[in-house]
Amino acid sequence: MIDTHEHQVSERYWLETEYSLFSWFIQPWFGQYAGADLVSAGMPPLDLEKLRDPFVPMHERWELVSPWWPFARSTGFGQSVRLAARDIYGVDELNDSTWAGLNERIIAGHKPGHYRRVLYEMSGIDVIILDQNVRADPYVHSEFVGAEVRPRVALVKRFDDTFIRLTPDSLGLIEQDWGQRVDDMDELLAALDGQFDEMERSGVYVGVKCAMAYDRIVRYEDAPRQQAEKIFQRIRGGEELGDAQRRPFEDFMLNEVARRSGERGLVMQVHAGILAGGDANITRTNVTHMNSLFARHPRTRFAVFHGSFPYMGELAAIAKNLSNVYVDNCWMPIISPTQTREWMHSWIEAVPLNKLMGFGGDYNFPDGSYGHSLVARDILARVLTEKVRDGYFSEQEASWAAHRILRQNAVDLFGLERFLD
Ligand SMILES: [Zn+2]
Repeated sequence: MIDTHEHQVSERYWLETEYSLFSWFIQPWFGQYAGADLVSAGMPPLDLEKLRDPFVPMHERWELVSPWWPFARSTGFGQSVRLAARDIYGVDELNDSTWAGLNERIIAGHKPGHYRRVLYEMSGIDVIILDQNVRADPYVHSEFVGAEVRPRVALVKRFDDTFIRLTPDSLGLIEQDWGQRVDDMDELLAALDGQFDEMERSGVYVGVKCAMAYDRIVRYEDAPRQQAEKIFQRIRGGEELGDAQRRPFEDFMLNEVARRSGERGLVMQVHAGILAGGDANITRTNVTHMNSLFARHPRTRFAVFHGSFPYMGELAAIAKNLSNVYVDNCWMPIISPTQTREWMHSWIEAVPLNKLMGFGGDYNFPDGSYGHSLVARDILARVLTEKVRDGYFSEQEASWAAHRILRQNAVDLFGLERFLD
């Protein structure tokens, strides 16, 4: 199948970093979902931090997890890592008496070949679409996207913190990359074109990722160039602008990125709905804020992430009416397995079948993606079985739908043929 969204680091970089049971709760760079549920259950955030402190002995780390795990284990996030423990390490349950043995097995398995075994052989993933958010990983371009690597890795690029949320610092980095000064909007857009040229030349990019939802409302206005140019000149002059002052510039640039994505045949993956990392501000991330963006760029195909949870109905209405909007339920199967099951039923009935994508692991470590892949497959299998039982699909239609939702829709949308054998 195709995995439409991951944040995995390359295997070589993973091998260079500490990996243990506690990496399932927090990674060196980011918190992880199972850890977020420990904190949601009541674990002090500073205790979660200690789980990645190499100076804290393993048994002390477990003592921090133990009071909260019984409450977090029952969520989708908990279920995902429990499935990984069961199938990858042969440990059926994580508790006070099994954690040490599981931890030993995880540490013993921290060796070359783990990615291939877990992601390719066990999860059955042929291609990962990687949204690289661990910038420190030096091996993404030199190794991870290599033609001999399994699963194959295709990339999407973010412009959020470079061209869009422009600062004097990020402008400096753009100039460094571009190799010349950038003094006005024409030159900035030329540098942006340069980035898209580079992406095309590399042959490994299939899209652009926009995660601006983490920083602001996802309503992107049709800001006039003149206004954006004025703001650009202030940034050029070294001013650090607040978010509100810079907003029309951000809107203008995001439209420029969206337009170029359409012209170049790249998909724009957009975050909507629930945010990772303990930010509960979900009204600003409602997919309906993006209606005007979708309408403004009819040639650009937008894959709306996470089923827009908890705004699945809004996404159904939008994806039904706009031919350039697609439903990508990455991350959603472990946010709420039951809601995913209900909405997969509804999306199949409301949205044409070529516009649904059923799996994106959205993890920083391979074991999590394995657990997630099992949850997602299981949900789709149940949905399609129910659809056959209800007489909505024949068995043949149901298996074709499974093939479309887990594989072919993403292959067609992102043009992944070149990554497949
Ligand atoms: Zn993600």
